[in-house]
This record gives sequence, structure tokens and C-alpha cells, in this order.
Amino acid sequence: MISEIIGNSRFEAFLESIDSDLAARAKSKGCTHCGGTLHSATYPRKPRGLSDCVDPPNRRRSFCCETCRRRTTPASVRFMGRRVYTATIVVLVSAMDEGVTNRRIDIDELRGTLGVHRRTLQRWRRWWRTVFTATPFWSVARADLMPPPDTTALPASLLERFVGPEASMRLAQCLRFLAPLYGPHGDRAC
Ligand SMILES: [Zn+2]
Repeated sequence: MISEIIGNSRFEAFLESIDSDLAARAKSKGCTHCGGTLHSATYPRKPRGLSDCVDPPNRRRSFCCETCRRRTTPASVRFMGRRVYTATIVVLVSAMDEGVTNRRIDIDELRGTLGVHRRTLQRWRRWWRTVFTATPFWSVARADLMPPPDTTALPASLLERFVGPEASMRLAQCLRFLAPLYGPHGDRAC
């Protein structure tokens, strides 16, 4: 599962195409603050965990309002806020860490390969169970997953709710579900 996803440039390009669509939708809705017209204010990002040959190049799509000059940042399946790792890494590594003791060696190998420090992983674990579960996004979105996933086993319990023959597609669905978390309010409705 891991090898077919991490460092897979085709999968990265697929996620990029989803981000492109999310950005187009956000732009068409206008400024989230005043409804004004949005102009591109994309900025470069170099998240860890991507293959060396990323095409198109890494960038976080963002917009600036021509009226109020405030920024509108669309939802994303690739970036989770300011984290230096991609959303793919944060979800996959956190999910693998979830109490799967017989795969402890795998997770340690993976952490080493990706350079994810043990403390970072512990911080992610706490984030999923305390910060994430307290977000307005989760309070609404979990209703789509009745019964709600076990919050003590996030994000593994969330990931297993998505079905499909390929692990990469299940992950993509999960990332799309999580995408509005750092996007503008209301984007989830689209
Ligand atoms: Zn505005």
C-alpha cells in the first residue's frame, strides 16, 4: 500500500488535479469575506514526502480579493495547513501508527525513510484525537459517516470507511473528505 502511494508521481498528479478543481470552485464563488472577485495569489510550497519529479510544480493555490485584498485559500487534498509534510504522509503515517503493533517495524522504517521524527508522530497522534475532533469541520462531517469512526483510532478508523479496490483511491477519497478542513468556510457544501 505504502509503496504504491508515497513517491508515486502519477498519484501526486491525480491529487494535484483534484486541488485544481477545488481551486476553480473556490474562485467561482468569489471572496469568502466580501464576495469580491478573486485573483490568483498562488505561492510555492515544498512539502516533504513528494517524489523528486513533481509535475506540475508544487504550489499552494490561493487567491486575493480585488476589493478587500484579503486572502481566500481553497480546500486542498495535498496540504494540511502549515505542516511541512503532505496530507498523504500525515494521514498514512498516522494511520499506520494506530495500534498495529505487528507492523511496528514497518512504521519505524517508514518514519526513517521519510524523516518523520518520533515526536512529530506523537504530536500528530495527539492532534487527531484532540484538536481535529474539536473542529467545527469534524462536528458536521462525521454525520456523513454514521456511525462515526472511533475517535481514539483516528485517522485509521476514518480511512477504513472509504471503499475501493485500490489503496490509493481509498486514500484519495479520505483526503477529499478532509480537504475542507483548511479551506474557506462553506466549501464543503460543493
Ligand atoms: Zn473580499
